[in-house]
Amino acid sequence: MPKRDYYEVLGLPRSAGPDEIRTAYRRLARQFHPDLNKDNPKAAEEKFKELSEAYEVLVDPAKRERYDRGGFAGVEQDFSPGGFAWSDFRHAQDVEDLLRDNDFLRQFFQQGAAGDLLGSLFGGGFTTRAAPARGRDLELSLSVKLSDLLEETTREVEILRTEKCPACGGNGAEGGTALETCRDCGGQGQVRRTRSRGPAQVISIMECPTCHGTGRVVLERCSVCGGTGRKQVPRHLKIRIPPGLEDGTVLRLAGEGEPGSGSRRGDLYVHVQVEDEPTFHREGRNLSSELSISLSQALLGAQVKVPTLKGKALLTIPPGTQPEATLRLRGEGLPPPGGGARGDYLVTVHVQLPTPLSSAQREGVRQLFGAPEEPPAREERGRGGLFGRRKG
Ligand SMILES: [Zn+2]
Ligand SMILES: [Zn+2]
Repeated sequence: MPKRDYYEVLGLPRSAGPDEIRTAYRRLARQFHPDLNKDNPKAAEEKFKELSEAYEVLVDPAKRERYDRGGFAGVEQDFSPGGFAWSDFRHAQDVEDLLRDNDFLRQFFQQGAAGDLLGSLFGGGFTTRAAPARGRDLELSLSVKLSDLLEETTREVEILRTEKCPACGGNGAEGGTALETCRDCGGQGQVRRTRSRGPAQVISIMECPTCHGTGRVVLERCSVCGGTGRKQVPRHLKIRIPPGLEDGTVLRLAGEGEPGSGSRRGDLYVHVQVEDEPTFHREGRNLSSELSISLSQALLGAQVKVPTLKGKALLTIPPGTQPEATLRLRGEGLPPPGGGARGDYLVTVHVQLPTPLSSAQREGVRQLFGAPEEPPAREERGRGGLFGRRKG
């Protein structure tokens, strides 16, 4: 299906104001009625998605401007990689009541593939009218260094989150002025419609289309939030990083997500990545690294400074240390997740032989250790040597 122009989808001229956009979306969304769509729910979903995508862009002043200037490519950044997905529908709260009041839309989305997505979008509860929907969850990635994990640390981050519009204080009216009583329904939220049917008069009571049943109207919509009363603003948060945290841990900050229709916000999920360090290898609580020492350090012993997570520590190399021996610095590792006694720091030593030797040095080695007689009979000894083959 070729992508249709958003204004065309909503049946609006390019000069349409926010009110017209809202009204058009509500009117078109109401058309998703069982009698019209029962044979082809999949097509109905596609149509509703197309409509919602158009609404999402045109009702948002920033997205609308990008679309007016750059077409579909201008708003590509606002959507998931494959294009508009239900999770990209940020203006769900505008139409939440609409979905709640429309049995078909409700059942359709509860059963359909979009059900889970919309369910989480609106808090999953369509069952009771009174239950306010919980807000959407937010996600964030964060990377920390190994040295940040020695004790509890705090990281300050900035997220974009929907808050009460600072210009109108959340009521959607320009300058935050008081809402007016709806003139069409006198503040009742309901209107009577009288129709003539032959000689009879049919009176029906319906929700006031002007105030959508609230009885109050905004005379002049807030120019900052377009009348939604909400605005995405940068928000600083402090995130507590517990000691000893494992790579890939997900921290949950309850109630720090997007606002819902009531007071319940969604949660914020922080994915924490522990940066790889070239010096240290981590294995649970223990750290390890490698160290080159000289032959005389191995033979005579020494004290060597080695890097640790907190700076440097003195490592004692005992006299007669064998090549590839592992030395242990107790308590220089990491604490276990959540805190506790720190693990150890294991250092594997590589002994560097001095080369090449001068003739005087060679003479010295002969005097110290004697001249080599034959090459070491490694193979024979490995099999049991002089005592013949081992059985078994
Ligand atoms: Zn506002
Ligand atoms: Zn009204």
